[in-house]
Amino acid sequence: MNCPRCQTKLVLNRINDINSSIEVDECPDCHGIWFDKDELSQIETIIEPTLIEIRKIPSKKDQYEKMNCPSCNNSPRLEKTVHPRDKKVIIDYCPYCKGIWLDKGELEAIQKENWILTIAKLVKRLA
Ligand SMILES: [Zn+2]
Ligand SMILES: [Zn+2]
Repeated sequence: MNCPRCQTKLVLNRINDINSSIEVDECPDCHGIWFDKDELSQIETIIEPTLIEIRKIPSKKDQYEKMNCPSCNNSPRLEKTVHPRDKKVIIDYCPYCKGIWLDKGELEAIQKENWILTIAKLVKRLA
């Protein structure tokens, strides 16, 4: 699977929680993360945010760049949704496989605010 932003091959990265651990695909270049369906809600209770370095969210222009789903055949266009409480966080999701792409810094931003569940619900509603 390649990064929807820079086409670099994604590498597996493990995110650990006290009870569980999930594998996500991370881009070694832009440090965006691809979550397959339901993976994002699984890490809702993550207690080890240090695994994800504190990174700056990309500029608005970068975030609004069109991207294609790295996971589906024929690479459908990812849809964008803005978090209702923070317009800085723009989430890309695939309406077909329900995967979610978070740019660098976005995971950290929503973890801090405990928004992961909210976003998972939001995407479910939109999809
Ligand atoms: Zn990338
Ligand atoms: Zn997809």
